Amino acid sequence: MAVFQEIESPRKAEKAIYNKVIPAGEGWMHELLPGQVLRIVDLEGNQAVDTLFFDAENPEDHYSATATITAQQNIYLTTGTALLSESGKTLLKIVADTCGRHDTLGGACSAQSNTVRYSHDVLPMHNCRDTFMNLLANYGDTRYEKRDLAPNINFFMNVPVSPDGNLEFADGVSAPGRYVEMEALCKTVVLISNCPQLNNPCNAFNPTPIQLLIWDK
Ligand SMILES: [Zn+2]
Repeated sequence: MAVFQEIESPRKAEKAIYNKVIPAGEGWMHELLPGQVLRIVDLEGNQAVDTLFFDAENPEDHYSATATITAQQNIYLTTGTALLSESGKTLLKIVADTCGRHDTLGGACSAQSNTVRYSHDVLPMHNCRDTFMNLLANYGDTRYEKRDLAPNINFFMNVPVSPDGNLEFADGVSAPGRYVEMEALCKTVVLISNCPQLNNPCNAFNPTPIQLLIWDK
Protein backbone atom coordinates (compact mmCIF):
# COMPACT_ATOMS: atom_id res chain seq x y z
CA MET A 1 0.00 0.00 0.00
CA ALA A 2 1.39 3.39 -0.97
CA VAL A 3 1.72 6.03 1.73
CA PHE A 4 0.80 9.68 1.20
CA GLN A 5 -1.57 8.75 -1.60
CA GLU A 6 -4.19 11.49 -1.80
CA ILE A 7 -7.64 10.36 -2.93
CA GLU A 8 -10.37 12.99 -3.23
CA SER A 9 -14.04 12.38 -2.53
CA PRO A 10 -16.87 12.84 -5.05
CA ARG A 11 -19.24 13.90 -2.23
CA LYS A 12 -20.45 17.51 -2.05
CA ALA A 13 -20.78 19.27 1.31
CA GLU A 14 -24.24 20.66 0.45
CA LYS A 15 -25.60 17.10 0.09
CA ALA A 16 -24.49 16.10 3.59
CA ILE A 17 -27.26 15.27 6.08
CA TYR A 18 -25.08 16.35 9.02
CA ASN A 19 -22.53 19.16 9.31
CA LYS A 20 -20.96 20.24 12.56
CA VAL A 21 -17.80 22.00 13.76
CA ILE A 22 -16.15 20.59 16.88
CA PRO A 23 -13.85 23.05 18.69
CA ALA A 24 -10.46 21.89 19.92
CA GLY A 25 -10.74 20.16 23.27
CA GLU A 26 -14.29 18.96 22.71
CA GLY A 27 -15.56 15.55 21.67
CA TRP A 28 -18.31 13.81 19.73
CA MET A 29 -20.03 10.45 20.00
CA HIS A 30 -22.44 9.43 17.27
CA GLU A 31 -23.90 6.35 15.62
CA LEU A 32 -23.40 5.78 11.89
CA LEU A 33 -25.79 3.57 9.93
CA PRO A 34 -24.53 1.06 7.37
CA GLY A 35 -23.61 2.87 4.15
CA GLN A 36 -23.30 6.29 5.77
CA VAL A 37 -20.04 8.12 5.11
CA LEU A 38 -18.33 10.28 7.74
CA ARG A 39 -15.86 12.97 6.70
CA ILE A 40 -13.49 14.52 9.24
CA VAL A 41 -12.03 17.83 8.04
CA ASP A 42 -8.80 19.19 9.51
CA LEU A 43 -10.00 22.80 9.20
CA GLU A 44 -6.80 24.61 10.11
CA GLY A 45 -4.26 21.83 9.59
CA ASN A 46 -2.15 19.51 11.72
CA GLN A 47 -4.83 18.80 14.30
CA ALA A 48 -4.87 15.40 16.04
CA VAL A 49 -8.29 13.74 16.02
CA ASP A 50 -8.28 10.84 18.47
CA THR A 51 -10.91 8.36 17.34
CA LEU A 52 -12.38 5.02 18.41
CA PHE A 53 -15.14 2.89 16.91
CA PHE A 54 -17.60 0.42 18.44
CA ASP A 55 -19.90 -2.14 16.87
CA ALA A 56 -23.28 -0.64 17.90
CA GLU A 57 -24.90 -4.10 17.99
CA ASN A 58 -22.13 -5.42 20.22
CA PRO A 59 -20.46 -2.47 21.99
CA GLU A 60 -17.83 -4.69 23.62
CA ASP A 61 -16.34 -5.18 20.17
CA HIS A 62 -14.31 -2.03 19.50
CA TYR A 63 -11.74 -0.89 16.94
CA SER A 64 -8.53 -2.88 17.12
CA ALA A 65 -5.22 -1.34 16.04
CA THR A 66 -3.63 -4.79 16.09
CA ALA A 67 -6.24 -6.40 13.85
CA THR A 68 -6.24 -3.43 11.46
CA ILE A 69 -2.45 -3.23 11.15
CA THR A 70 -2.12 -7.00 10.74
CA ALA A 71 -4.79 -7.18 8.05
CA GLN A 72 -3.24 -4.48 5.86
CA GLN A 73 0.41 -5.16 6.77
CA ASN A 74 1.01 -1.44 7.29
CA ILE A 75 1.01 0.77 10.39
CA TYR A 76 -0.40 3.87 8.66
CA LEU A 77 -4.02 4.31 7.58
CA THR A 78 -5.23 5.76 4.29
CA THR A 79 -7.74 5.17 1.47
CA GLY A 80 -8.60 1.50 1.21
CA THR A 81 -7.85 0.70 4.85
CA ALA A 82 -10.44 -1.56 6.46
CA LEU A 83 -10.91 -0.59 10.11
CA LEU A 84 -11.34 -3.85 11.98
CA SER A 85 -12.67 -4.66 15.42
CA GLU A 86 -11.19 -6.99 18.02
CA SER A 87 -13.31 -9.84 16.63
CA GLY A 88 -12.01 -9.18 13.10
CA LYS A 89 -15.23 -7.58 11.84
CA THR A 90 -14.83 -4.70 9.36
CA LEU A 91 -16.57 -1.72 10.98
CA LEU A 92 -15.66 0.89 8.39
CA LYS A 93 -13.56 1.41 5.31
CA ILE A 94 -11.59 4.57 4.47
CA VAL A 95 -12.95 5.71 1.10
CA ALA A 96 -11.18 9.05 0.57
CA ASP A 97 -8.19 10.77 2.14
CA THR A 98 -6.47 14.01 1.13
CA CYS A 99 -3.99 13.88 4.02
CA GLY A 100 -2.65 10.49 3.01
CA ARG A 101 -1.46 9.06 6.29
CA HIS A 102 -2.87 8.60 9.79
CA ASP A 103 -1.37 7.23 12.99
CA THR A 104 -2.30 3.93 14.66
CA LEU A 105 0.35 3.83 17.39
CA GLY A 106 0.57 7.12 19.32
CA GLY A 107 -2.55 6.57 21.45
CA ALA A 108 -4.52 9.25 23.29
CA CYS A 109 -3.03 11.87 25.57
CA SER A 110 -3.87 11.47 29.24
CA ALA A 111 -2.93 13.23 32.47
CA GLN A 112 -0.43 10.45 33.14
CA SER A 113 1.22 10.40 29.70
CA ASN A 114 1.39 14.20 29.73
CA THR A 115 3.48 14.17 32.91
CA VAL A 116 5.82 11.54 31.43
CA ARG A 117 6.18 13.26 28.05
CA TYR A 118 6.26 16.89 29.17
CA SER A 119 6.46 17.84 32.86
CA HIS A 120 4.67 17.25 36.13
CA ASP A 121 2.96 20.64 36.16
CA VAL A 122 0.83 19.68 33.12
CA LEU A 123 -1.00 17.03 35.23
CA PRO A 124 -4.29 18.99 35.51
CA MET A 125 -4.43 19.93 31.81
CA HIS A 126 -7.42 18.71 29.84
CA ASN A 127 -6.64 15.63 27.74
CA CYS A 128 -8.21 13.18 25.27
CA ARG A 129 -8.69 10.44 27.83
CA ASP A 130 -10.86 12.78 29.92
CA THR A 131 -12.95 13.65 26.85
CA PHE A 132 -13.35 9.96 25.95
CA MET A 133 -14.39 9.04 29.50
CA ASN A 134 -16.87 11.91 29.74
CA LEU A 135 -18.56 10.97 26.45
CA LEU A 136 -18.61 7.23 27.18
CA ALA A 137 -20.15 7.78 30.62
CA ASN A 138 -22.95 9.96 29.23
CA TYR A 139 -23.83 8.12 26.02
CA GLY A 140 -27.50 7.10 25.91
CA ASP A 141 -28.58 3.81 27.42
CA THR A 142 -25.50 1.86 26.40
CA ARG A 143 -23.24 1.38 29.37
CA TYR A 144 -19.79 2.20 28.11
CA GLU A 145 -17.05 2.47 30.70
CA LYS A 146 -13.30 2.62 31.24
CA ARG A 147 -12.76 -0.91 29.94
CA ASP A 148 -14.19 0.14 26.58
CA LEU A 149 -11.27 2.48 25.95
CA ALA A 150 -8.78 0.89 23.58
CA PRO A 151 -5.75 2.17 21.67
CA ASN A 152 -7.19 4.71 19.24
CA ILE A 153 -6.53 6.17 15.81
CA ASN A 154 -5.00 9.63 15.57
CA PHE A 155 -6.34 11.05 12.34
CA PHE A 156 -4.01 13.66 10.76
CA MET A 157 -1.28 13.03 13.32
CA ASN A 158 2.23 12.29 12.16
CA VAL A 159 3.95 9.61 14.24
CA PRO A 160 6.73 8.24 12.06
CA VAL A 161 8.61 5.15 13.15
CA SER A 162 12.36 5.71 12.92
CA PRO A 163 14.66 3.07 11.32
CA ASP A 164 15.66 1.86 14.79
CA GLY A 165 12.01 1.37 15.75
CA ASN A 166 11.34 4.45 17.86
CA LEU A 167 8.13 6.44 17.66
CA GLU A 168 8.53 10.14 16.97
CA PHE A 169 5.88 12.81 17.40
CA ALA A 170 6.76 14.94 14.42
CA ASP A 171 5.52 18.07 12.77
CA GLY A 172 2.26 17.32 11.02
CA VAL A 173 1.74 16.10 7.47
CA SER A 174 -1.75 17.54 7.20
CA ALA A 175 -2.78 21.04 6.07
CA PRO A 176 -5.88 23.28 6.28
CA GLY A 177 -8.92 21.66 4.67
CA ARG A 178 -7.49 18.17 4.30
CA TYR A 179 -9.96 15.42 5.14
CA VAL A 180 -10.47 11.72 5.59
CA GLU A 181 -13.69 9.87 4.79
CA MET A 182 -14.90 6.51 5.98
CA GLU A 183 -17.94 4.43 5.14
CA ALA A 184 -19.66 2.45 7.87
CA LEU A 185 -20.21 -1.19 6.88
CA CYS A 186 -22.38 -1.87 9.93
CA LYS A 187 -24.05 0.18 12.66
CA THR A 188 -20.99 1.83 14.18
CA VAL A 189 -20.59 4.19 17.11
CA VAL A 190 -17.88 6.80 16.55
CA LEU A 191 -16.07 8.34 19.52
CA ILE A 192 -13.90 11.39 18.84
CA SER A 193 -11.75 13.57 21.05
CA ASN A 194 -10.58 16.64 19.18
CA CYS A 195 -7.26 16.80 21.00
CA PRO A 196 -6.75 19.76 23.39
CA GLN A 197 -3.01 19.10 23.55
CA LEU A 198 -0.90 22.26 23.99
CA ASN A 199 2.44 20.47 24.42
CA ASN A 200 2.74 18.50 21.19
CA PRO A 201 4.65 19.69 18.10
CA CYS A 202 2.27 17.61 15.92
CA ASN A 203 -0.22 20.48 16.02
CA ALA A 204 2.34 23.29 16.40
CA PHE A 205 1.20 23.66 20.06
CA ASN A 206 -2.08 25.04 18.76
CA PRO A 207 -5.16 22.78 18.86
CA THR A 208 -7.78 23.78 16.28
CA PRO A 209 -11.39 22.90 15.30
CA ILE A 210 -12.52 20.10 13.00
CA GLN A 211 -15.63 19.71 10.86
CA LEU A 212 -17.72 16.55 10.67
CA LEU A 213 -20.00 15.76 7.74
CA ILE A 214 -22.19 12.71 7.16
CA TRP A 215 -23.78 11.53 3.93
CA ASP A 216 -26.55 8.95 3.64
CA LYS A 217 -26.06 5.89 1.48
ZN1 LIG B 1 -4.98 14.34 22.91
